Amino acid sequence: MNEMCLKFLSRSENEIFARNAVAAFALPLNPSLSELSDVKTAVSEAVTNCIVHGYRGGEGWITVACRTEGSKLYIEVSDEGRGIENVEEALAPFYTTLPDEERSGMGFTIMQTFMTEFSVASKAGEGTKVTMCKDFGERAEINAG
Ligand code: ATP
Ligand code: MG
Repeated sequence: MNEMCLKFLSRSENEIFARNAVAAFALPLNPSLSELSDVKTAVSEAVTNCIVHGYRGGEGWITVACRTEGSKLYIEVSDEGRGIENVEEALAPFYTTLPDEERSGMGFTIMQTFMTEFSVASKAGEGTKVTMCKDFGERAEINAG
């Protein structure tokens, strides 16, 4: 078991920082390049959502908390921004509230597809928390044992 937590401002350059920090944290689990790329993409989508939707380009804190358990990496990405009125609606492929800004509404769908487990908790006006897990399976167990 290992844990880490990052807290950073909602600036676009921090998206690269966050995805690389999580990837570095995951390395002891011996992920394949494609698994690592899945995790980086999912973190990137979640953090970008905090920046563009949660804070709408304004300044606020984003927290990325990670924990490993056996062959699994758990990741929580949260903001204290606008929140989501209807989570079920927001999860639908191609649903976006910012269609004019080249948003395709695929971020949540990508996270869901690339990760082993995925869920969203949100309250309008209070913020959003995305919880994800990636299971690196046998490779991680070989490395650990
Ligand atoms: P894309 O990710 O393809 O650029 P998108 O960000 O609009 O487009 P999703 O990432 O799937 O698509 O998010 C769907 C919708 O959920 C967003 O348009 C937004 O309304 C809402 N949403 C997602 N994350 C947050 C967040 N952290 N805070 C507030 N609203 C959010
Ligand atoms: Mg998105």
